[in-house]
Amino acid sequence: MNKTFAVPRGTSDILPDTVLLWEALEFLARKVCKSYGYKEVRTPIFEDTNLFKRSLGTTTDIVNKQLLELASSKEDQEEGYALRPEGTAAVVRSYIENDLEKKEPLSKLFYIGPMFRGERPQKGRLRQFHQIGVEVLGPNAASPLLDAEVIALAMQLLRELGVKEPQLKINSLGSKEDKARISSWLRAEFAKHTDRLCPDCRARFERNVFRVLDCKNESCRKVVAQVVKDLPLSVPSQEYFKQVQAALKSVNIPFEVSPHLVRGLDYYTHTVFEITAAGLGSQDAVGAGGRYNGLVHELGGNPKVSYGAIGFALGIERILLSLGEVPIPPANINIFVMSMKEEYQPLAFLVLQLLRKSGISADMNFAGGSMKSQMGKADKSGARFALILGEEEVKNKSVAVKDMRQSTQETVALDKIVEHIKNVLPEE
Ligand code: ATP
Ligand code: MG
Repeated sequence: MNKTFAVPRGTSDILPDTVLLWEALEFLARKVCKSYGYKEVRTPIFEDTNLFKRSLGTTTDIVNKQLLELASSKEDQEEGYALRPEGTAAVVRSYIENDLEKKEPLSKLFYIGPMFRGERPQKGRLRQFHQIGVEVLGPNAASPLLDAEVIALAMQLLRELGVKEPQLKINSLGSKEDKARISSWLRAEFAKHTDRLCPDCRARFERNVFRVLDCKNESCRKVVAQVVKDLPLSVPSQEYFKQVQAALKSVNIPFEVSPHLVRGLDYYTHTVFEITAAGLGSQDAVGAGGRYNGLVHELGGNPKVSYGAIGFALGIERILLSLGEVPIPPANINIFVMSMKEEYQPLAFLVLQLLRKSGISADMNFAGGSMKSQMGKADKSGARFALILGEEEVKNKSVAVKDMRQSTQETVALDKIVEHIKNVLPEE
């Protein structure tokens, strides 16, 4: 076949067998989120480009290098639209736009869906990938127990989805004021070592000095290790972080405090965390998140209200990579209808629809063919029973019901067939 078109770079088709795996994963994820009292929200996959610029920060890689903007949209919107690179900005936009704070004291939301980033594709790094994310928003939603709940939910999701030994790292960036003070301090300290910083960090240093802390470059890491033993948080921020850690310990969630863990986005304050899994190579983060108390105000929330907000996102493709080969149970139908003569095909179709309308999964071979070839198709379909329309059966307004496992056969009147099948099929 002449393959003229290919799937865009960094994206992939999820074919039917694999969709079964995704369905199972999404089902389980929804179940776990709901068990924590979270409700699903679905927002558009594209938004006003300014929403992302405002929330993620114009100096971040996501906005600077990875935003996939819709060129044609500039006609109806000054800045145009962009495909969403992450879920938080849209959920906060929706929270404010729909006045959710008036409807419930605390909004606990989750989402599952595709995200888009114009990255250089490689293993575990795609241009369209999928996330399971949660966001907790509300006036006064700044309890360290909520930080612990959100982290506990992320860990439980990963465990239930089968990720082996997920490793949790946490850190605190402190309040907005702490962050500003720590930025100046870091800048002053790193200024003494600019010759040892990589070109990226020398550029980052002015714009977003926190990013130097998680640079992978060997020389930068040495400078960071030498300069930063702990982030100098204010006493209330330290106290808050201690309470988060105590809550995690109380529910037996192991973690490592890593003073060099930062997240790439401007909006994080206080608790940030990242979860890695084995076997993923250099893209080993399966999920990450943190607190972003200031973002609701930043995006237009009521200035008189003090909001708290925290969330995370897990990467579904990376979760699947970490699981390795997973056996996928075949999606069998229950009934395969066969006609022994071409002229019985319309009757076969009628029987097929009778079954389907009663909620019984069924199929037939629309190309007809010999008894042998149709039996082969029935076998392949995994059907529990084959319904055979032969000359005798058609004459007597009946159908032969063949049990594909026991190889037994009986004749049933056509007007009793649905009832009969319902009786003999095992409970789902
Ligand atoms: P990374 O460190 O890999 O660049 P990130 O900090 O950009 O990740 P987040 O924005 O925090 O990632 O997204 C949360 C999770 O989404 C990541 O931990 C990862 O599992 C997944 N993810 C992010 N970007 C991609 C991508 N391009 N392809 C596949 N999965 C991704
Ligand atoms: Mg990234």
